[in-house]
Amino acid sequence: MYDYLVVGAGFAGATMAERLAGGLGARVLLIDRRDHLAGNAYDPLDEHGIRIHRYGPHIFHTNAQRVVDYLSRFTAWRPYEHRVLARVRGALVPIPINQVTLHRLFGVRLDERAAAAFLAGRAEGVERIASSEDAIVAKVGRELYGLFFRGYTRKQWGLDPSELDSSVCGRIPTRVDDDCRYFTDTFQAMPREGFATMFQAMVEHPRVELALGCDYRSIADRERFGHVIFTGPVDEYFDERFGKLPYRSLHFEFETLDTPVYQEAAVVNEPDESVPYTRTTEFKYLTGQVHPKTTIVREYPRAEGDPYYPIPNPECRALYQKYAVLAAKERNVTFVGRLAEYRYYNMDQVVASALTAFEELAKAHV
Ligand code: FAD
Ligand code: UDP
Repeated sequence: MYDYLVVGAGFAGATMAERLAGGLGARVLLIDRRDHLAGNAYDPLDEHGIRIHRYGPHIFHTNAQRVVDYLSRFTAWRPYEHRVLARVRGALVPIPINQVTLHRLFGVRLDERAAAAFLAGRAEGVERIASSEDAIVAKVGRELYGLFFRGYTRKQWGLDPSELDSSVCGRIPTRVDDDCRYFTDTFQAMPREGFATMFQAMVEHPRVELALGCDYRSIADRERFGHVIFTGPVDEYFDERFGKLPYRSLHFEFETLDTPVYQEAAVVNEPDESVPYTRTTEFKYLTGQVHPKTTIVREYPRAEGDPYYPIPNPECRALYQKYAVLAAKERNVTFVGRLAEYRYYNMDQVVASALTAFEELAKAHV
């Protein structure tokens, strides 16, 4: 009765379901064990009527026009440029580090050349950049590394930056200009009615049936599906045969305050290791909502809990590779998404990966 079973209704699953039904004319059953669409990008109204992101702040940004074109079929956009401040030595300063950061921290007013020279004078020579620690000390030196990266990373990952791939802290650039935006991508915007509404539009197709609160593990007769698209944790699919793949989790503490504005920026980072949470997000900056109250969330990293972040380091990658070998051999199953591919993907990268996976399937279909 169905041609495809798609497991997981996040970006990976919703894109696959939409493409298979809309592009191939296939009949699709889309399931998620949660009681909602949108995966970790889920953004309902809270009990005060304020739009929140249930699983932490999700900001859409991309350089991939193909992803913008695709998602724009399901949503209009509200332009939004994200800004983050970090609490360092009691002051709130811009991160990524830029001219303004250096001025507020060191009292120096520098143009681009002088800022570059200032940072170069602090940078340490690193022969081979292997870890996140290497990546940062090679750019800004040990003091700024200690102030902005060491504590935050140790809290977020439960690992020292020296134990993580350079790409983790390497996500955060260093700037010598005064651009205070967190991202510089060509497209930065939020779905105008929120992520969940966009997802509704994606899966609203006569050939897509949606079953929420439905776990793949409880489906007995999987043979009746010609092909499975799996977007959950890859180790779970294989019953953790080689051991559990570590995923970092978070505990979210939400608070609603009786004031229209709580903090100076959408997100305030807390790199100090003595503060138990990593960052505070005030949602109204992200959504543009006007409301007399405001809701914030603080993120407390955890080893246990819902899987949120694959851990980019050599040990985890080696374990993942063992699962990847099994996944490649699995007939009639496609693994796609952040948990299934064990990649620290942003939303746009997941959509791109799903579009590519779909194209591969479509080729085989003709
Ligand atoms: P998910 O969204 O995790 O969806 C997978 C779905 O599969 C889940 O809904 C799950 O319930 C379901 N599932 C799993 N196993 C089963 C099963 N056995 N049966 C049924 N269903 C199952 N990206 C950005 O681009 N910008 C950001 O600002 C950003 N911020 C983030 C902040 C946080 C705190 C986190 C955790 C992530 C952030 N991301 C951000 C990344 C973004 O969330 C992911 O790239 C994207 O949501 C991944 O989509 P996905 O479909 O691969 O996975
Ligand atoms: N990071 C940091 N200090 C900061 C911001 C980021 O050390 O103020 C490091 C940290 O290791 C974090 C990584 O850079 O996990 C990537 O940051 P990003 O904001 O992209 O994290 P995400 O939004 O994916 O949680």
